[in-house]
Amino acid sequence: MRVLITGGAGFIGSHLAEACLERGDEVYIIDDLSTGSLDNIRALQNDDRFKNRLFVHIDTILNHNMMLELTGICDIVFHMAAAVGVRYILDNPLKSIKINVEGTEKVLSLCAKFRKKVLIASSSEVYGKHLHAPLVETDNIIYGPTSKFRWSYAASKLMDEFTALAYYRNRGLQVMIARLFNTVGPRQTGAYGMVIPRFVDQALKNKPLTVYGDGTQTRTFTYVKDVVRALTGLMDANDTAGEVFNVGGTEEITILDLARKIIRETGSASACELIPYEKAFAADFEDMQRRVPSIDKIRKAIGFEPKTGLDAILRHVINYHMSVTG
Ligand code: UDP
Repeated sequence: MRVLITGGAGFIGSHLAEACLERGDEVYIIDDLSTGSLDNIRALQNDDRFKNRLFVHIDTILNHNMMLELTGICDIVFHMAAAVGVRYILDNPLKSIKINVEGTEKVLSLCAKFRKKVLIASSSEVYGKHLHAPLVETDNIIYGPTSKFRWSYAASKLMDEFTALAYYRNRGLQVMIARLFNTVGPRQTGAYGMVIPRFVDQALKNKPLTVYGDGTQTRTFTYVKDVVRALTGLMDANDTAGEVFNVGGTEEITILDLARKIIRETGSASACELIPYEKAFAADFEDMQRRVPSIDKIRKAIGFEPKTGLDAILRHVINYHMSVTG
């Protein structure tokens, strides 16, 4: 199988590339390194087992000719390239919208042209500020004002979903949509806001853990290798096209409890520091108070179950951070 992974040098994309190489696929990566990094795939490039099976193109998915060639060559496409991280999105709203909307349209149109099966990575952000749990695929989607720019990301991802579904309806494109909830694991950077790599890094340096707001907001976390299993499972199944699936974990935890847990697990001397949102971000920042997925749909479709609980996830991430900082 020849697999094209857009955003393959990103955090999730690089783990997906690894899984595809491990199962014997030929992997083509296109990544503009805006938030991804060659460091993420260095070990794959240096692995003799993957020699002549990994091809890396440093380019944007907006480059039509390059995408035309790669989509033509490959059998299936995982479209993982996107702007990531609340911090990055708030700093680069125009770039984020462009890559999500124009980039995804390009991927979808080329997959339709060449009749290639494609999986689109969407985001739990599309559920907006709803407070109930669990969030189900049939629930109402975003609500939030245009004055709060965070929601531009959700709106662009939602446009991706509708565009994908329109290609399915009008052009018969075989496309699956994965709504990814908070995903964590080795190689994730805290540079764009992601809470677990940030807290682990702070704890290992005995610096205060920067808990935003009052820390009562909750999340669930999924280990990246579980997410990769979900993505390949959705791709390999015969009856998942034209459907949206939540991909996430089910263990809900408040951010304050998460911070305390990380302090305990690392044996850190750090304390938690509550930082008001308006100090952490701009005055117009808006958080999601609660975000818990229902994973019944993907469970029924492909038998997906996250295998790695939060304690094990934290151990993996802590070990990774200790190994890279020496
Ligand atoms: N968060 C925090 N301190 C940090 C980074 C994040 O308290 O240094 C909080 C953030 O406000 C949110 C949660 O942790 O409530 C998850 O944030 P992240 O950016 O990882 O992902 P999100 O779920 O917001 O997309």
